[in-house]
Amino acid sequence: MSVLVVGSIALDTVETPFGKVEDALGGSAVYFSASAANFHPVQVVGVIGDDFPDGALDLLSERGVDLKGVAERKGESFRWSGVYSFDLNTRETLDTRLGVFADFEARIPEEYRNPRILFLGNIDPEVQLNVLDQVESTDLVACDTMNLWIDGNRDALLKVLERTDALLVNDEEVRQLAEEPNLLKAAQWVQDRGPDTVVVKKGEHGVMLVDRESVFFLPGYPLEEVFDPTGAGDSFAGGFLGYLASRDEWTPEEIRTGLVFGSAMGSFAVEDFSVHRLAGVKMDEIMDRVREFRQITSFEVRAPERQGA
Ligand code: AMP
Repeated sequence: MSVLVVGSIALDTVETPFGKVEDALGGSAVYFSASAANFHPVQVVGVIGDDFPDGALDLLSERGVDLKGVAERKGESFRWSGVYSFDLNTRETLDTRLGVFADFEARIPEEYRNPRILFLGNIDPEVQLNVLDQVESTDLVACDTMNLWIDGNRDALLKVLERTDALLVNDEEVRQLAEEPNLLKAAQWVQDRGPDTVVVKKGEHGVMLVDRESVFFLPGYPLEEVFDPTGAGDSFAGGFLGYLASRDEWTPEEIRTGLVFGSAMGSFAVEDFSVHRLAGVKMDEIMDRVREFRQITSFEVRAPERQGA
């Protein structure tokens, strides 16, 4: 049983303080699958236009990603462009051209309808609902969203949440969704609407997991060179869910380990433009980074030798 992702397949134009790329391969389904394929078979459902460069998705199929669910339609491919501030923490979207993505009706092929894990990438919640209707059985539904849908299609998004096990969003998005500045309260607001698990991504500051029993926090991997933060969140989701799909049982410990794999994959994604670094990463590099996470986060609880004056 595989991981099924439904999301955008894009041509991104991105400018950071370190350079610029035009019409580079991007989109939530692309980052997610390039990341998750390191751990488990992945199936992709998405759409490209007839202008999509030939062979641009080969780096995914070479990694075993099943692209039978990617439809080609007459018209322009989805294009997104953005520019990052000098500290890479904020970005401005310059342009979003939906093209064939505007009337994307996700058709889930027969053989994709029983995935171990379903990841609903950041797309119109109406499309997410349509996908949920087509999937026959799955062990876990995880979902992403963004301000566009929180503002623009809240009712449908709330219906998606009722059918979601894990919501993966960034801190700004969860605050906006819950209309609550406190992250913990915002996560609990989400839990009251369905998902048992809320994963709040905080960019370079790491990730917070809130489930019904506990809260867990992991820092971001301290990288010296960050080139392009685009797709970090989807690469995180791919590592987290890809790892979980590869494991039989999802104990609280496994889930925490999954978050570390997710964070490691997010850190590789930002080391280069597009999926260049992510697509070439080796398992021993991933494992090294996972071990480093352990090193930078573990400590012993000790009492001071002398207490008080
Ligand atoms: P992230 O950096 O994790 O937010 O993901 C960035 C990716 O999301 C880029 O590769 C974009 O192509 C894609 N993206 C941006 N806006 C949208 C949108 N409105 N719908 C779907 N995908 C988008």
